[in-house]
Amino acid sequence: MLKREREVTEEGSIREILDKSMVLHLGLCDEGQPYVLPMNYGYIYEDGKLTLYLHGAVRGYKYEIIQKNPRVSFALECDVAPFEGRTACQYGNTYASVMGRGTAVLVEDVEEKIKGLAVLMKTQTGKDFEFNEKLVSIVNVIRIDVAEFSAKRRPLPGTEE
Ligand SMILES: Cc1cc2nc3c(=O)[nH]c(=O)nc-3n(C[C@H](O)[C@H](O)[C@H](O)COP(=O)(O)OP(=O)(O)OC[C@H]3O[C@@H](n4cnc5c(N)ncnc54)[C@H](O)[C@@H]3O)c2cc1C
Repeated sequence: MLKREREVTEEGSIREILDKSMVLHLGLCDEGQPYVLPMNYGYIYEDGKLTLYLHGAVRGYKYEIIQKNPRVSFALECDVAPFEGRTACQYGNTYASVMGRGTAVLVEDVEEKIKGLAVLMKTQTGKDFEFNEKLVSIVNVIRIDVAEFSAKRRPLPGTEE
C-alpha cells in the first residue's frame, strides 16, 4: 500500500468496514478475461482469518467461471462521500475499503449452506434468521476462503491524524 498511514489494521475497524459495506465486487477470471460483478455478502472474521459467504440463483455465468477457475479477488467499500477542493486534483472522496484474494468454493453441504445464509443475513441486516433444507435447496451458496486481504481508510482532508 503506497499510503501506509491510511492502512487499517485494528480488528474492530476492519469489522466496522465489513459491517457497513453491504456489497462487494467479486473479481473472477474466465480464461484470462476478467469478470466483475456486485454481490451482497456475509462474513466471519475469527483469529485474523476472513471467510465470506455469497448466495445467488442456482445457475449463472459466475458459477461456470468458478468451476473452471476458483481463484477470486474482491473489493468492498463504505463511507464514500465526495469532497471539493480549490483545484481539480484536490477533489476526491472519502472511503473505507477492504480488498483481498482467495478461493471460491461452491458449498454443497446442506448444514453449511444454512450457516452461510444465516451469516449473510446477519451481516446484511444485523438480525438472526433461520433456514431449512427446503429454503437452501433453491439457492447456491459460495464460500470464499480469503487467503490475504488489506483494509484502508481515506478520511476527509485535514482530519487525518
Ligand atoms: C447492489 C447489487 C447487489 C447484488 N447482490 C447479488 C447477490 O447477493 N447475489 C446474486 O446472485 N446477485 C446479486 N446481484 C446481481 C449480480 O450482480 C448478477 O447480476 C447476478 O448474480 C447474475 O450474475 P451471473 O454472473 O450469474 O450472470 P448471468 O445471469 O449468467 O448473466 C450473464 C451476463 O449478464 C450480464 N450481467 C450479469 N449481471 C449483471 C449486472 N449486475 N449488471 C449488468 N449486467 C449483468 C453480463 O453481461 C453477464 O455476462 C447484485 C447486484 C447488485 C447491483
